[in-house]
Amino acid sequence: MESRGICLCGDIEFSVRGLSGNIYQCHCSLCRKQGGSASNTGTVVAVEQLTWLKGEEHISSWTKDSGFKTCFCKNCGALVPNQLRGLNYYWIPIGVLENLSFKIVANLYLDHKAPWGVVSSSGTNYETMPEVSEFIKLLDNELHTSK
Ligand SMILES: [Zn+2]
Ligand SMILES: [Zn+2]
Repeated sequence: MESRGICLCGDIEFSVRGLSGNIYQCHCSLCRKQGGSASNTGTVVAVEQLTWLKGEEHISSWTKDSGFKTCFCKNCGALVPNQLRGLNYYWIPIGVLENLSFKIVANLYLDHKAPWGVVSSSGTNYETMPEVSEFIKLLDNELHTSK
């Protein structure tokens, strides 16, 4: 499926195609801070699946010493996709997408979950996270579509 993503203020818009609908939630402490809640919710797609429609120049980013990176709208602070370091993949924050047909297939970093965090009843539970290749497979997005 295809979905459009729009930040809170509307300055930044993008579209993603070839989405399987599979998403994950990460309960690690970094994702908690980044998402401002119990977890953050995302998926991963190949770089060529994403098209910036407008406002790419309004993206600001911050990278932690460890390499953890977050990208957000300069104007409203909403999370926007960011390219995984050294890889041809984009991390997509699901909450900014217009399409709502998604299913949680993985719950990550449950060892680090906040005591008040609620874990989705769907999906595989991981104490930390699986190998990147296994993870990408689980998300099952059409990573190599060139259309
Ligand atoms: Zn914005
Ligand atoms: Zn995380």
